[in-house]
Amino acid sequence: MPPAPALKDARALLKRVYGYDAFRGLQENVIADVLAGRDGLAVLPTGGGKSLCYQIPALLRDGCGIVVSPLIALMADQVDALKQVGVRAERLDSSMDQHSRNAALSAADRGEMDLLYVSPEGLGTSLAERLADMNISLIAVDEAHCVSQWGHDFRPDYRALGRLKGLFPGVPRLAVTATADARTRADILAQLNLTDPSVHVASFDRPNLTLSAEPKVGNRTQRVVQLVKARAGASGIVYAATRSAVEDVADALEKAGVPSLAYHAGLDTGIRAARQRQFLLEEGRVMCATVAFGMGVDKPDVRFVIHADPPKTLEAYWQEVGRAGRDGEPAEGVALYGPADMNRSLQWTYSSDAPDEVKRVQLTKTRQLFAFFNGDECRRGAVRRYFGEEKVDPCGVCDACRGELGASHDATRWAQMAVSAVLRCGQRIGRGRLVQHLLGEAKDDFDTELSKLSTFGIGKDLPKQGWNRVFDALMFEGLIAEGGEAMRPVVIVPDAEIAKALFRGERTVSLREDLAAPRRRSRTKGAARAAGQADLSARDQAVFDALRQWRTDLAKSRGVPPYVIFHDRTLAEIAREKPSSPEALREISGVGEKKAQAYAGDVARIVAEAA
Ligand code: ADP
Ligand code: ZN
Repeated sequence: MPPAPALKDARALLKRVYGYDAFRGLQENVIADVLAGRDGLAVLPTGGGKSLCYQIPALLRDGCGIVVSPLIALMADQVDALKQVGVRAERLDSSMDQHSRNAALSAADRGEMDLLYVSPEGLGTSLAERLADMNISLIAVDEAHCVSQWGHDFRPDYRALGRLKGLFPGVPRLAVTATADARTRADILAQLNLTDPSVHVASFDRPNLTLSAEPKVGNRTQRVVQLVKARAGASGIVYAATRSAVEDVADALEKAGVPSLAYHAGLDTGIRAARQRQFLLEEGRVMCATVAFGMGVDKPDVRFVIHADPPKTLEAYWQEVGRAGRDGEPAEGVALYGPADMNRSLQWTYSSDAPDEVKRVQLTKTRQLFAFFNGDECRRGAVRRYFGEEKVDPCGVCDACRGELGASHDATRWAQMAVSAVLRCGQRIGRGRLVQHLLGEAKDDFDTELSKLSTFGIGKDLPKQGWNRVFDALMFEGLIAEGGEAMRPVVIVPDAEIAKALFRGERTVSLREDLAAPRRRSRTKGAARAAGQADLSARDQAVFDALRQWRTDLAKSRGVPPYVIFHDRTLAEIAREKPSSPEALREISGVGEKKAQAYAGDVARIVAEAA
């Protein structure tokens, strides 16, 4: 047996192959455990460098590594990027012909393959058995939260991965994911049958993300166009809830002159794949998509994620918004939300046929999500606490930290009036009629009947708009809910105890100023600029632009995304340092041995010409 590879080998490899000087966060700890042959689970934030946690041990340990990954697009990108740095990697998926499949497998059999990427459904019995006869260094399960129904992206095919323990005895298995609360983590360990696993959970902080949330007011599509135009030239993702909403936003953006793409499950696979590819390959594209888009799209230079409609849960929010700024450079997340979104989500859960236990968890998650959007706590801080972190400092850059939400003021008295109106009126009328009732307006016989109640007209000193905000706030806080038939929603009080506490003044309700009179904001804070450019002189900027053009052409001719050649940050450092030899180029972060050899000539020429 060769001696077990040590961490110092891992560090040397990090520099030689990937061109990085140091491990990030928990990478080193995770890698040490895998090198020691242990099973493990690593929960690292998006952009935390999960791939290196299994790629490096696979390169150091004897044999070929298997990576189970849910999406073909993800595999294709990772394999491209690995080949660029000289790693022998291939993917085995259903779109491949038999010949290339066999070639990849024979190479692995001969010990001439470092990593094989497979999908969970592709890892059927015959392939698994064939691989089990080979020398396998490790098995990595990417996006491991898909194994758990508590995660937000449950995939039945993942369940079957538990059997790998029996098929590959003694082979370390590492599960990695960016989102898993405690319950999901426990489920992953159990479902995958991990033996005495080492568990690493990193902080959920994403210091480079600036977050904000705003209530939907007026035309939300136009608001999205406004937000995107304020970030012109940057690459971004706009999430919308439905296919038609996606099409609408994409059309509106095109009309406004923003190059955009639409992506949803209603498009056929070929179109979807082509658009995803286009998004990766071209700079400055805006992808309008349902959540069908994104898992496994690890484009590092996405500068913003806008939720035209809110996500399903905070886990989903963190993962979706986390697709911005994987390169560690400043990036933004802006979410639009409204009470109708919350109601739709609650109704959807009520009417689903999930077991009650699961429903209860989902209902709570929906309420937590909207309380988060509508709250006035530091955004990043709130998410981190939600994921169980204890000592959390305010981020200093979100809308709440920057004081953009306006002072919150006490609205308990209004809330008491609204809730008593709901109860007096018998929990059988909708919001519009309740507001009229509070304002003392009677438009038909039924209203006139209700006008005999003591709550009629008690709210005359708040305008209609203000009442709507009060009802929104009550809804977000779970003090009222919309029940009844979906088409004619009536307002009900779901929890009599909380209502009593409200009347006794033990439970208070506050309103943000911008709920009563929302202000429109459109900041960009320079996130739209390419990464690392901030302090370039005019001369260096010219070099940077020339390098970027060279990268665009080269990427196009090879059919790979530009960032697979070099990241923006790496180009900026080259523009500043102007390396003229392969050795000097090697000193730049993000340049490994292979790329230094391949590109030193081009880089030196461009630097000389442009500087
Ligand atoms: P994740 O899958 O966790 O979102 P990736 O593995 O895609 O993250 O890594 C995100 C980016 O960070 C990649 O471009 C990767 O090359 C880079 N990266 C990873 N580890 C390091 C490191 N130790 N130093 C510098 N950059 C790193
Ligand atoms: Zn903050």
